[in-house]
Amino acid sequence: MSNPLNNAEIIKNQNELAAIIENVSDGICIFDKSGQYIIFNKSARNIFFPNNQSLSKLTDAYKQPCFYGIYGENIEPANNPTQMIMRGEQFKERKMTVRLSHEILDINVSGTPIYDENGIFSLGVLSIRDTTDSRRHEEAIKRRFEILNRVVDTFDLPLIRLSCPNLKIIDINKKAYSAIKLINSNITSIDQIKDNKLYNLFGKLKTIEYYQCMREALEEKKTKYLYALKNLINGIVIYWNVIFEPVLEVNGEVQELLILIVDVTPEIKSVKVMENELKMQGEFLVNISHELKTPLNVIFATAQLFSMYCTTDTLDKNKASIIKYIDCIKQNSYRLSKMINNIVDLSKIEAGFFKLKLTNNDIVKFVEDIVMSVTNFTDSKGLNIVFDTNLEEKIIAIDTEKIERVVLNLISNAIKFTDKGDEIVVSVIDNDKFIDISVRDNGIGIEDKYLDIIFDRFKQVDKSLSRNAEGTGIGLSLVKSIVELHDGNIHVKSKFGKGSNFIVTLPSVNVLKDDPLYNSEVRSMDQNILVELSDVYS
Ligand code: ADP
Repeated sequence: MSNPLNNAEIIKNQNELAAIIENVSDGICIFDKSGQYIIFNKSARNIFFPNNQSLSKLTDAYKQPCFYGIYGENIEPANNPTQMIMRGEQFKERKMTVRLSHEILDINVSGTPIYDENGIFSLGVLSIRDTTDSRRHEEAIKRRFEILNRVVDTFDLPLIRLSCPNLKIIDINKKAYSAIKLINSNITSIDQIKDNKLYNLFGKLKTIEYYQCMREALEEKKTKYLYALKNLINGIVIYWNVIFEPVLEVNGEVQELLILIVDVTPEIKSVKVMENELKMQGEFLVNISHELKTPLNVIFATAQLFSMYCTTDTLDKNKASIIKYIDCIKQNSYRLSKMINNIVDLSKIEAGFFKLKLTNNDIVKFVEDIVMSVTNFTDSKGLNIVFDTNLEEKIIAIDTEKIERVVLNLISNAIKFTDKGDEIVVSVIDNDKFIDISVRDNGIGIEDKYLDIIFDRFKQVDKSLSRNAEGTGIGLSLVKSIVELHDGNIHVKSKFGKGSNFIVTLPSVNVLKDDPLYNSEVRSMDQNILVELSDVYS
């Protein structure tokens, strides 16, 4: 009778089994009772002998203490996996490192002793899985998360992390903490926020839309948005864009839900301002076209009349009315001129092209001269105009042409909104470092609700309330801009039905050097008055 085969021989001879072992993705090492390795499959060879060293050196792996603990600590020879198996111990997925000449690998080692029919240890099987790559991968992910966490915390946008599926707060960044503190004054620490539901923290803010979006983000596993959500926080309207971002696990399940809040209040408010501005510009265009057309129509009609006189040879006969009509053409040309000047100047100021030509002038005499030059006009309207001052003389730096327009504009308005027998008082008052020029009338006055808007571009108080109210609504806006270019300011005091007082405050300063060029400019005060008062001529 032939000797029964021992286990080692059986395995050696079983080619099929050997082929399977050879191709298993884990490293399989089998050794006999003397500790002599008899099988090292391909994966094991790749781990221990990537350079295809010959199997004769296999036992080196056993002889050399190449196994270490997970932190690289030495393992007692007696606790070497081979020794443990030879002692009959069985173990599963022990984490270790193996230090080889070329690198250090992370491995999970499982060991099984195999006994013969007499219960005597005959073979040891070591199964080794190289986990280096997955460990490196995990570390990379961890590092990425750490960076992400740091970024999130220093992020300038509020960010809230919610657990799934119970939607409780896991964490929030500093910015979100400040935002929640604003909404809910009872919150005093981040810990108080954690593990809470959003609706517990958002106080009076409605969270229905948030929860709707969260549900959709979880169901569809897609980013969801709430745009320009209007919130009233401590009496202030704030607009948020809220982004709901599901964070998916490797298996595709939603792990967390991130809520990112972007404060879009400035954008939304500027859009509203812009819309308002465009609306006002639209209204202005309609208004200005009407205002430009009126004098043009008059001029056009007069021209037609003149041509009729010519064709009917009645020029001489109509001389008196022709002279009247020529005045009418002039008057309407002045009105056109004033409107065009105002529009051009306002555009120049807005574009930053409007430059002052400052010269030192006696403001008292300057304003008094303007008042004197309009007396003929106010007399003809049955109005009384008075100049008043507490100063003899005061030299300050002004752009004479521009300040003349400011004063004439205020006087023109005073004339527009007064009635026969009313009084206009123009004063120059010394106010230490400033000079006040006031134009006061006892005309129709302005309702309180309009006081804030009359200096805005294109704003006019309802025309039905104001008499003789020709104009485009840019006069006071231009006056304000010119005064501000002088580093001054303008304000109005008015009582509806009693009259108005416009006060221009100019700094009492001089320019170091008068530019003779500016002073030598030829300007005709009469011409300016005709232009500036053109819309109140009758
Ligand atoms: P406009 O060129 O149409 O006169 P302004 O900017 O000069 O425009 O004035 C804006 C509005 O302010 C006027 O339409 C008028 O309603 C009001 N206003 C200005 N000055 C006076 C005043 N002295 N008395 C009453 N209302 C005034």
